[in-house]
Amino acid sequence: MVEENYDLAILGGGPAGTACALSLKESGLRIALIEKQEFPKDKVCGDSIPGEAIQILKNILPDFDIEFGRILQKLKITRSAFHYNNRVFRQHWDNEAYTCRRLYFDEFLLSQVASQPLTRIFRGAKIGDIIGRSDGFELTTTDGKLKIGCRMIAGCDGINGLTSRVLAGNTISRKHHVSAVRAYFNGVSGIHDDQTEFYAGAKYGSGYFWIFPIYGGLVNAGFGMLSNEISSANINLKKAFSAILLGEGLLHEKFRLAEQCGPLESRGIPLGSYTPVRSGERFVLAGDAASLADPLSGAGIGNAIVSGNAAALQVMRCFRSGDFSSQTMKAYDLDLKKKLGMELRKNTIIMKTLSKFPFIPHLAFLFGEKI
Ligand SMILES: Cc1cc2nc3c(=O)[nH]c(=O)nc-3n(C[C@H](O)[C@H](O)[C@H](O)COP(=O)(O)OP(=O)(O)OC[C@H]3O[C@@H](n4cnc5c(N)ncnc54)[C@H](O)[C@@H]3O)c2cc1C
Repeated sequence: MVEENYDLAILGGGPAGTACALSLKESGLRIALIEKQEFPKDKVCGDSIPGEAIQILKNILPDFDIEFGRILQKLKITRSAFHYNNRVFRQHWDNEAYTCRRLYFDEFLLSQVASQPLTRIFRGAKIGDIIGRSDGFELTTTDGKLKIGCRMIAGCDGINGLTSRVLAGNTISRKHHVSAVRAYFNGVSGIHDDQTEFYAGAKYGSGYFWIFPIYGGLVNAGFGMLSNEISSANINLKKAFSAILLGEGLLHEKFRLAEQCGPLESRGIPLGSYTPVRSGERFVLAGDAASLADPLSGAGIGNAIVSGNAAALQVMRCFRSGDFSSQTMKAYDLDLKKKLGMELRKNTIIMKTLSKFPFIPHLAFLFGEKI
C-alpha cells in the first residue's frame, strides 16, 4: 500500500474539486486531488456551461481565454428559446456561455490542475473510508492500495458522496432532488448552434425537456423532474422521455429523423432549495456534495465552481490561523450564503410557487410568440 501525507485532500475532480484546487495554486499547500474515474472522465449532464462558471474561471485562471480557446469541441451559446405549450419566449444572453461535453470540459479543468507543482492528482482512486485522527483524517481507497493522511478535506465528490454522508451526516431529500435522463442524438432538425431550447407545459408535469446543441452536429436532449413528484405519480422517467419524443407536436417533428448515439442515462441533481450541513471540524463541502444546484433550472456547474472557489478561501483561512474548528468553518457557510443565498432563495420561491400554481407560466406565456 502507498501511504502519503498532504495538507489538504480534495475528493472529486469535477467542477467543484478542480475550482478548489485551481484557487489554491499560490497557497503553498500540498494538495491531493483524488478522483475515482480513470481517463477520460465523463459525467451525465446537459453539458451547458453557464456564464457564472466562465466568469469565475476567468478570475482563477489568468490564461483561461487562451487555454479554453484551445478546446475545439464547444459551442458559444448566445440565446435560448423557452417553449410552453404552443408558445415560445426568446431570450438573448450577454454573459459568455457554452455547451461543451463534460468529457472535454472536466478534462480541461483537470489538465489545468495538473500543471500545479504542489498538487498531485490521483486518478482511478475511489475513496471508500474516511477515519478521523486528532490532527486530521486518513483516507483509504476501496482497493486498499492507497492511504492518504491530510489535515483538512474539501468534499467535492458530488451527489450522495462519501464526504456528505460520512463527515456531515447528510441524506438525500426527495423534496430537494431532481431526477433527470439524457442522451445524445444526431440529425435533430431545426437546431441552431448558438441556441439552447427548453420545453415545459401541462404534459411535462413539474419537469422540463431540454435540447442543447453540441459541437459536431450532436444534441444533448434530456428530461428532468422533482423526485418526490416522480415517486408520488409513479413515473418511469426513461419511458416518459421516449413518450415525449414519440408523441405529437414539435418535439416529435424535430426528432422524427434523429438517431440516438449512446444510451439514455439517468442521474440525480441535489437542489439548493434547503440547507444541509456544508461544513464541520476540518472539512468543507462544495458543489453537488453541498446540494447547491439551482432549484429552478437544475444547473449546478456554476454553483459548483463558485463554492469550490469559496472552499479554497476557507482552506486558506484555516491554514493561516491554524484553526480548523467547526466554529471557524461557519465563515464558509456565511460566504456561500452571501454569494449564492439570494439567488437560491429566489428560485426556491419561484419553484414552489410554480408547482402549487402551474397556470402561472401559462399566463406569462400568453405574451410569447405563437408557434
Ligand atoms: C442529467 C443531468 C443534466 C445536467 N445538466 C446540467 C447543465 O446542463 N448545466 C449545469 O450547470 N448543470 C447541469 N447538471 C448538474 C451538474 O452536472 C452538477 O451540478 C455538477 O456536475 C456538480 O459538480 P461537482 O463537481 O459538485 O460534482 P461532480 O461533477 O459530480 O464531480 C464529483 C466527482 O467526484 C468523484 N467522486 C465521487 N465519489 C468519489 C470517491 N469516493 N472517491 C474519489 N472520487 C469520487 C466523481 O467521479 C466525480 O468526478 C446536470 C445534472 C444531471 C444529472
